[in-house]
Amino acid sequence: MAKARVGLYVVGGDSLTRTHRPCPKCGPGVFLAEHKDRRSCGKCGYSESKAPPPSKAKGKAGAA
Ligand SMILES: [Zn+2]
Repeated sequence: MAKARVGLYVVGGDSLTRTHRPCPKCGPGVFLAEHKDRRSCGKCGYSESKAPPPSKAKGKAGAA
């Protein structure tokens, strides 16, 4: 029997949603580690910042 790996995927409706993003440098086989406000690859050291959650969005800057 195949054992499903818990943690990497979340079942949402009829499609699977990745909770971990693959490293753009290492390929789809390596996932980035989730941090509070960023993700990082433990293999190559790649890191990217997460977009801030739209909870504190109060008024849009730059809108004429
Ligand atoms: Zn990597």
